[in-house]
Amino acid sequence: MQTQNIKRLVVVGAAESGVGAAVLGARRGWDVFVTDFGSIAPRFKAVLDAEGIAYEENGHTLDAILNADCMVKSPGIPEKAPVMKAVRAAGIEVCSEIEFGFRYKGDSKILAITGSNGKSTTTKLLYETLLLDGYDVALVGNIGYSFAKKIAEQPAQWYVMEVSSFQLDDIHTFRPDVAVLLNITPDHLDRYDYDFNNYIRSKFNITRNQTADDYFVLNGDDPVIKAYLTNHSTHATKLFFTMEEQLGTADGGSINNGHLFISFDGRTDDLSINDLSLRGKHNQYNCMAAGISALIAKVRKEKIRESFSGFNGLEHRLEHVATVKGVEFINDSKATNVNSLWYALECMEKPVVLIMGGQDKGNNYNEIMDLVKEKVKAIVCMGVNNGPIHAAFENDIRTIVDTASAKDAVHAAYAFADKGDVVLLSPACASFDLFTNYEDRGKQFKQAVKNL
Ligand code: ADP
Repeated sequence: MQTQNIKRLVVVGAAESGVGAAVLGARRGWDVFVTDFGSIAPRFKAVLDAEGIAYEENGHTLDAILNADCMVKSPGIPEKAPVMKAVRAAGIEVCSEIEFGFRYKGDSKILAITGSNGKSTTTKLLYETLLLDGYDVALVGNIGYSFAKKIAEQPAQWYVMEVSSFQLDDIHTFRPDVAVLLNITPDHLDRYDYDFNNYIRSKFNITRNQTADDYFVLNGDDPVIKAYLTNHSTHATKLFFTMEEQLGTADGGSINNGHLFISFDGRTDDLSINDLSLRGKHNQYNCMAAGISALIAKVRKEKIRESFSGFNGLEHRLEHVATVKGVEFINDSKATNVNSLWYALECMEKPVVLIMGGQDKGNNYNEIMDLVKEKVKAIVCMGVNNGPIHAAFENDIRTIVDTASAKDAVHAAYAFADKGDVVLLSPACASFDLFTNYEDRGKQFKQAVKNL
């Protein structure tokens, strides 16, 4: 029977993070109710059933929601959803899943990574580095595993966490021991009232509750980050990583003469760029960020080296697919904005046939114009509306064609490519016009290459 002091937790959204928060709440004695506007996937229903957690799907019953003491909002739920308006009007405390999990983390340590691009890569690299040195570490967050669920089921001493801006929107006490901010470029502005400043503030939330005992590892070359820091401060110790400056004896990370230097608290390491398994300038930034964080966590230097030279990278991020009759195919389907396409082109060393396009987020292609002119011999558009790509490049690129499937795009690109060229799928756009998501787009691309 419910007693007065059992608190009610309502979770809106029943996917990985929502169900994780529900499980943690139930196991810590909350009266939990889960509600989803759509249908709940069978694998999540099975978890809720097994834990004896009440839930509803295909709509929200406000009477069962507005009596909550606390609400966990899944990252996919926008503030403009009617249920959120009702919850806010009722004055109920709203938490993100990482905030809720944080309250039960005990004395474990959190290394949290955010940014517009590079989060998953850096998170996985740092996680594998700690793992290699024998740490009791879990990989959590946006990368696919709920932090709250891990705490409920299999707590670890260290958490390496990928954090999205949505997860940072509703934190109150969340305080990572090490926070990493990789970069900030415009993204997801539809969720931030089309105001870039709101998105920037949300990213900086990662350091909001940090104290002088914590560390904030951040990109010293990023103009948006630099500008924000001129008017805002953090209590944490800042450690910059940069390619534009030499840090001298300061702690942080830098690149000089083909070497990556990282240092923290009297410990330094120096890795040759050629020994890093990940290609490209963007990945040198990611490696500096992960390397400094690993030093702060006291990972042994030889383990950092071993990890950084053996890391396999992630699927759909500059992933080598195959070489067919001398033409290399690379799958960078996760490049869903112009900035990530810039970095992909930057590290191409052969003439490029570029497959790009999809759902445009208001892209400005000016920033990649020079690289496209220098490296791209033909563009194969793959999207429903390819008008903006034609408009941007028709004066400079002689060959631009339209396709509307991965198979047609691969065939067209292969026809334009010569031995020694590379066919790069790096769309700079979302995938939802032709594909379920970026994974589906990347998989269809790889299948089409295999069928050549
Ligand atoms: P996220 O999780 O932030 O989306 P990923 O590691 O999945 O980041 O990479 C997304 C895309 O961005 C890929 O195309 C990848 O090659 C590119 N990318 C990775 N790191 C960076 C970086 N530091 N700056 C810009 N682009 C990057």
